[in-house]
Amino acid sequence: FSRLKQGLGKTSAKLSDGITGIFTRKKLEAATLEELEDVLIEADLGVGTAENIIETLRKGRYEKGISADDVRSVLQAEVARVLTPVAKPLVIDATHKPHVVLMVGVNGTGKTTTIGKLSSKFRAEGKSVMLAAADTFRAAAIDQLKVWGERTGTTVISGAVGADAAGLVYDALARARQEGVDVLLVDTAGRLQNKEGLMDELSKVVRVVRKLDDSAPHDVLLVLDATTGQNAMSQVDVFRQRAGVTGLIMTKLDGTARGGILVAISAKHALPVHAIGVGEGVNDLQPFDAGEFARAIAG
Ligand code: GDP
Repeated sequence: FSRLKQGLGKTSAKLSDGITGIFTRKKLEAATLEELEDVLIEADLGVGTAENIIETLRKGRYEKGISADDVRSVLQAEVARVLTPVAKPLVIDATHKPHVVLMVGVNGTGKTTTIGKLSSKFRAEGKSVMLAAADTFRAAAIDQLKVWGERTGTTVISGAVGADAAGLVYDALARARQEGVDVLLVDTAGRLQNKEGLMDELSKVVRVVRKLDDSAPHDVLLVLDATTGQNAMSQVDVFRQRAGVTGLIMTKLDGTARGGILVAISAKHALPVHAIGVGEGVNDLQPFDAGEFARAIAG
């Protein structure tokens, strides 16, 4: 036996080294993948998406090792796969006079700013726009909408602080119909600390809108702040269930590390994503492009 061992020494050493090598590498790979999974989850992409990426990498043929570029390209493909079906432009139906868009979301997410950006965009397309300041709870919200109205040459229907939101929206819609306005953008309240009151108010707004036009509201857009990460996810749960959300706009995607949350939300809800906010300026609203988003997130 000793002779045999000696004779085959190099072979066995090679084999042994090879086996050790494979196992070491496998172990390392598994650990690396686990580490990578944590990184993906910490980037708010969601557990499902992280798992899909890890699974794709695990099944991939990376016998010769895996590079950061390999990982990035799998990440990019998975993000694009999730987001491509939800990237849909906001379509204003010209047969609706007006096309009624209800803007909902928690205070501070960028609702009023997004209304300003949208009204500027629609005006540039030659559409007539009217704004309804139905966040009657906050004087600042009413004033801010008026500023956007002036800036974009748009009529703002507003009332006193504390006025009945549903009544105000009813009046605004009646006037918009009379004037043949193309788009009515309705700013709503977003104080989540009184969730039941808020949701009741939103349902009441929807009810009075339907009294005048049973096809309205034509869009209920939930505005989400990307910087709030997982909070944005729970806001979708609440508003979708209670306010009949038809689409999303995500703001503040400029300079946040938490943009991955849009992927997690889309994987879970598959709601149309119409646009993204990338700054405070009037032109900082972009149509949502899944491929570009995936490329940007994969770096
Ligand atoms: P609302 O309470 O939901 O109506 O939120 P506002 O429209 O008042 O926005 C809250 C703050 O977020 C303001 O300072 C906005 O200028 C800012 N904001 C809105 N959208 C964006 C965005 O896309 N990027 C950045 N950086 N800031 C934004």
